[in-house]
Amino acid sequence: MVRVRFAPSPTGGLHIGGVRTALYNYLFARKNNGTFILRIEDTDQNRYVEGAEQYIMDSLNWCGIAPDESPQTAGEFGPYRQSERLDLYKQYAQQLLDKGLAYYAFDTPEELEEMRKELQEAKAANQQYSSSNRMKMRNSLTQSPVEVDKLMAGGSPYVIRIKIPADETIEVNDIVRGKVSVQTNTMDDKILMKSDGYPTYHLANIVDDHLMKITHVIRGEEWLPSAPLHVFLYKSFGWEAPQFAHLPLLLKPEGNGKLSKRDADRLGFPIFPLNWTDPTTGELSEGFKEKGYLPETMVNFLALLGWNPGNEKEIFSLEELTQIFELERISKAGAKFDIQKANWLNEHYLRSTPVNVLAKDVKLRAEEAGFDCAIQKAESIVTLLVERSTFIQDIWNNGQFFFVIPSAYDEKTARKKWTDEAVEVLKLFSSLITELSVPKAEAFKQILEKATTELGTGLGRVMPALRLALTGQGGGPDLMGIMEVLGVDETKKRIEIAIDRLTTK
Ligand code: GLU
Repeated sequence: MVRVRFAPSPTGGLHIGGVRTALYNYLFARKNNGTFILRIEDTDQNRYVEGAEQYIMDSLNWCGIAPDESPQTAGEFGPYRQSERLDLYKQYAQQLLDKGLAYYAFDTPEELEEMRKELQEAKAANQQYSSSNRMKMRNSLTQSPVEVDKLMAGGSPYVIRIKIPADETIEVNDIVRGKVSVQTNTMDDKILMKSDGYPTYHLANIVDDHLMKITHVIRGEEWLPSAPLHVFLYKSFGWEAPQFAHLPLLLKPEGNGKLSKRDADRLGFPIFPLNWTDPTTGELSEGFKEKGYLPETMVNFLALLGWNPGNEKEIFSLEELTQIFELERISKAGAKFDIQKANWLNEHYLRSTPVNVLAKDVKLRAEEAGFDCAIQKAESIVTLLVERSTFIQDIWNNGQFFFVIPSAYDEKTARKKWTDEAVEVLKLFSSLITELSVPKAEAFKQILEKATTELGTGLGRVMPALRLALTGQGGGPDLMGIMEVLGVDETKKRIEIAIDRLTTK
């Protein structure tokens, strides 16, 4: 029975890399008829950010990858917030103390600083609190039981540390990276319980993964260095370790170095799935959603950032992914965050969205801007513009001329294409369309052809001028379609205004 978890710390906006981790967990769970759990790892009091947990939920919901068990949809393994499980961690830390696999340490910050200096000066191979120097420190291994009791009774702050043995090898079997071996002499006696009585990530994570019956730990590569300690902790408790799969880093679009918020800002794309306002600075970061990316795009894009289907296919729905996703096809190499690919996918999914859905959006935006917009008109606009749009709001932004008479005309087009010849055709065309009974694109075209033939010229010589008159622009969607949306009166009016403004100059 597969059980996997996404275990973010609510320390701020959920980075897009976190969404990828959640997605891979979700896909693996669905592929194997398993359970996908969201656990909130909020044991670091100093880094806790109000609203971050809700933001995580909202982000997963938006992508369509809601967890089966979470703080908000509790299952039988709750609570799903670590801050509500503190007693458990104390209990398990005590187990390790009782077995002699962990110990109390009373060293003050000054003493620890002193230790670091000494290790540095001695150029010690291991510069951390470890088997090599723990017997020189102030802890329950070096102090008498009476002294330990006295320190505790006197309220001296203490932590609980794991006792990593010397001269052993720990092996981590990672599904993505294969076997990773680590010498215990290079490891340190990590803190399990902090002086504030809270567990560290390592202890809480292992206890919870065990109690929540997690079978596979799928998480970012930045946690690979912690895996040997985790394996050692499972062994110390006498528990079977889950299987591990560490996901490759997300790299800058250029390919070198880890993707950061700074890169995203520099290159003008989001790093958070949804809008996120930093509660301390008040800085608002635009989310992928608000930027106009569709959830289908996000899922497809993130799925391919570190995983591949083993063929050239690039378009995948969430449903399809849940049928073919395999941990074995995750790559070791970092994945370049190619935003162009996301844009390309968004164009694909935008074009696959039903016209009436996009039309409702256009209608809404038009009305917000103070314009009336019948749904049929919005649908025609969508049909004309969707092929030229990357984001949903591009349709509205590029289609504003349907609602307002141009206030300016593209200068280059005006200079080159606004000819006396074109103006003559426009005048004739304008008078000929007055009687148009069925103002469809095809009819406008026929009349324009008639006008050009009558005046001995060709369509290509007058269309840029007509477009300029109607839209103010040098390029755009099908001109006949534009006239169909504008209608006869508006078309005539715009031609007249353009002649007035452009010809008298
Ligand atoms: N709380 C850790 C994080 O914020 C979880 C790491 C893990 O999945 O083990 O990413």
